[in-house]
Amino acid sequence: MNIPAYAQVVADKLTDAGYEAYFVGGCVRDAIMGNVPHDFDITTNATPDEMKAVFSDMRIFLTGEKHGTVTVVSEGENVEVTTYRVDGEYKDSRHPESVSFTVNINEDLARRDFTMNAICYNTAFVDPYGGREDIEKKIIRTVGNPDERFGEDALRIMRALRFASCLGFEIEKETKKSIHKNAHLLKNISVERIFVEFTKLLCGENVRNILLEYYDVIGVFIPEILPCVGFDQKNAYHIYDVYEHIVRAVEAAERDVKIRLCMFFHDIAKPMCFTIDEKGGHFKGHDEKSAEVAHAVLRRLKADNDTIHTVEVLVKEHQRDIVPEKKYVKRCLAKISMPVFDLLLKVKYADTVAHSDKAKGNFEVLKKLEGLRDEIVKEGECISLKDLAVNGSDIIALGITDGKRIGEILKKLLEMVIDGEVENHKEKLTKIIKAL
Ligand code: ATP
Ligand code: MG
Repeated sequence: MNIPAYAQVVADKLTDAGYEAYFVGGCVRDAIMGNVPHDFDITTNATPDEMKAVFSDMRIFLTGEKHGTVTVVSEGENVEVTTYRVDGEYKDSRHPESVSFTVNINEDLARRDFTMNAICYNTAFVDPYGGREDIEKKIIRTVGNPDERFGEDALRIMRALRFASCLGFEIEKETKKSIHKNAHLLKNISVERIFVEFTKLLCGENVRNILLEYYDVIGVFIPEILPCVGFDQKNAYHIYDVYEHIVRAVEAAERDVKIRLCMFFHDIAKPMCFTIDEKGGHFKGHDEKSAEVAHAVLRRLKADNDTIHTVEVLVKEHQRDIVPEKKYVKRCLAKISMPVFDLLLKVKYADTVAHSDKAKGNFEVLKKLEGLRDEIVKEGECISLKDLAVNGSDIIALGITDGKRIGEILKKLLEMVIDGEVENHKEKLTKIIKAL
């Protein structure tokens, strides 16, 4: 295993002081897979008090001390060092009631979730559950009986799906059965912890297979998605049912949390907006309604405000037709801002990929829109109130003091500049204000 010096130093200090120390968990798994680990965790038979003595000449944090974790700062990087642990009794399928320390590394490995995460290494591997073989075969398997392990801590269900999506692994047959059987236990897990795993899952390379196979699990915390599953669109522009279209749009989108969340929600309200006539199925108003559902679900899952707001705007605007002419692009930019416009183009791209070939003409329109956006940026054209050559004080100086009226005038001037009815020059704009 390739271990950077800053992490090795921490392990060496423990062994030099006569303790055992192993690298463990994600870093070992990632290294075996040939990936560069994002951090290095160490497990040891030293207790936190003993660690404090060993690392007395280094900076440490004690935020995790209760769980046996001491964070050691080595060459500016954090290394988490945790005493061998066995978890106490679990109640309600979440967090153990208590943890206790042990002197046996095998007991520590036994409490870990999956075989691939229950391997440790110092000069050789300790791998009592065949983790390396499972990594080789790309298999996710619980350590021990899956019903028991998911019963102890149901978050492991979401972790299994997340790892399967991000690593492109298969979930082993018994583990898979147990996930479907125990999915309802996720009701006991805090929404914040579920949401963290869900967003990682959405950004995984294997997201399509996981969402298609485990919609029942997703439906435990987002039941709003369930009516989409198998819902026939009866529409020539679509070859998939609503859920599969959603899933394929997620997969086609860039691996960015906001874009992928938008794709997940963009058509979620279609079943409740469905009507049919001789031309086929229609979903009038599904963009607005889906935006409402996205807002409500994300709020319930305690997403941050910026994510909620951006996803809601993107869902609402996802099928707005933007005519590929400068004037219309600028109008849109004025309405939703440049960063959200950029995300919207990516959303529209992913949406088009998930349609039937009849919709493929959209790609050309999207290319043109991108080109126009670049031109507008390059030429520094006026697209927002702050770009306007007059501001509120200029209007007050002309004797108009009503705040609401000032706002209306500025908005009107911006529209006129964007539509090319007047140049963005102070004198010219002043003339217009005086004439109003
Ligand atoms: P990554 O950090 O890449 O997301 P990881 O496997 O390191 O993956 P962490 O959440 O950092 O995940 O956890 C570190 C280790 O702790 C895991 O590899 C696993 O051995 C153990 N672990 C984490 N969460 C659980 C859990 N809910 N149940 C059992 N063991 C767990
Ligand atoms: Mg980790």
